[in-house]
Amino acid sequence: MTDVLIIGAGIIGAACAWRLAQAGLSVTVLDRTAPGSEASQAALGVLTFHGRPGTMPQPLRVLAQMSRDFYPAIIQELQEAVGEHVYFRQEGQLILAINDDDLASLEETLRVNRADGVVLEQFSIEEALSMEPNLNPEIAGALYSPNGAWVDNTALTQAIVRAAQKAGATFEQAEVTSVESHGGRVIGVRAGETLHEADWVVLAAGAWSGRIEGVPGLPVRPRRGQAYSVEGSYFERVIHSPRAYIVPKGSTQTMLGATVEDVGFDVTNTPEGLGAISKGAFEISPILETSTFAGAWAGLRPGTPDDLPFIGALPEFPNLVIATGHFRNGILLAPITADLVRQIVLSESATIDISPFSPAREFLVS
Ligand SMILES: Cc1cc2nc3c(=O)[nH]c(=O)nc-3n(C[C@H](O)[C@H](O)[C@H](O)COP(=O)(O)OP(=O)(O)OC[C@H]3O[C@@H](n4cnc5c(N)ncnc54)[C@H](O)[C@@H]3O)c2cc1C
Repeated sequence: MTDVLIIGAGIIGAACAWRLAQAGLSVTVLDRTAPGSEASQAALGVLTFHGRPGTMPQPLRVLAQMSRDFYPAIIQELQEAVGEHVYFRQEGQLILAINDDDLASLEETLRVNRADGVVLEQFSIEEALSMEPNLNPEIAGALYSPNGAWVDNTALTQAIVRAAQKAGATFEQAEVTSVESHGGRVIGVRAGETLHEADWVVLAAGAWSGRIEGVPGLPVRPRRGQAYSVEGSYFERVIHSPRAYIVPKGSTQTMLGATVEDVGFDVTNTPEGLGAISKGAFEISPILETSTFAGAWAGLRPGTPDDLPFIGALPEFPNLVIATGHFRNGILLAPITADLVRQIVLSESATIDISPFSPAREFLVS
């Protein structure tokens, strides 16, 4: 019998495994495939507050800001734990209004973030262009976020898996079909014919979290994101517009993203999806129209009805912790999620009020 069994070895499950193993617990992570093969490798690694303010509720902005602040120390900790350098850049981020219609949303972004204490600077077009000369000179407005950062999420997830293993966690390949319970507590999970017994179960199966039997109604749904990359380096920092974003990937490639689509568990790329990304990205930088296509991919983000993650135990089963539904922000939110899950399992008081993320919350949006 293991202390904690985690379903899913994406960045969320792996980060939880790392923190729980560091706390001295025996931890087993089950994934039906290789760790980090799903959404956590499809992400673009932006460590900032996705979406416009209206689409990111205040509790989530607080959570995101806390998690972002953990990043420099975590990169250092991983380097020391497993000797791996994970590429992490903190050059800031530009948020653009491409046309006059976008200016209202830019002003709202400035107002809401400043109210939260986030530093955002208003840039003139000239300032934005001198920072990033490949921007469209016709843009209507720009904000600069010095806090904007980017991480190589694929390398990060693999480094976290290795750090968790080094701390004593075991990763096994197995597809979990159900969570098993008895007398108001979970007793483990079933994978094939095997019952894996555990004192605690953490459900971190990403977009598939709602498909596991024995878990009372968890409304997680897949939200496809398509993205692609082009050869060459065009920007130093992440650039956002309301319709697309551009992410420098090291010094050799540039990533362009991303769609948000409700098409079930389908991870194909479509001409329509890639076309929409191109349209948005070319508004930001027309020079990209003549760039060389390098490759496309898609992944399934774990969505929830109100776009807030699920972090917490279920009232029905106090030893079943849900850690999923991170939608567009799972890379950003992995550090704080892992800390909160560790606090729940160790019965420590939580660093912040996690009631907005309760898996038992009422939904105003359906
Ligand atoms: C195109 C795109 C761009 C993105 N960009 C960003 C970004 O810039 N910044 C950011 O913060 N986030 C971004 N995201 C979101 C981010 O990728 C996700 O929020 C995050 O990866 C979710 O991590 P996870 O561990 O919950 O899920 P996943 O990485 O999907 O991991 C879930 C794991 O559970 C396993 N699993 C599922 N069912 C079972 C089962 N029955 N038994 C065993 N194992 C199971 C799967 O095999 C998988 O390995 C992006 C996503 C996409 C698609």
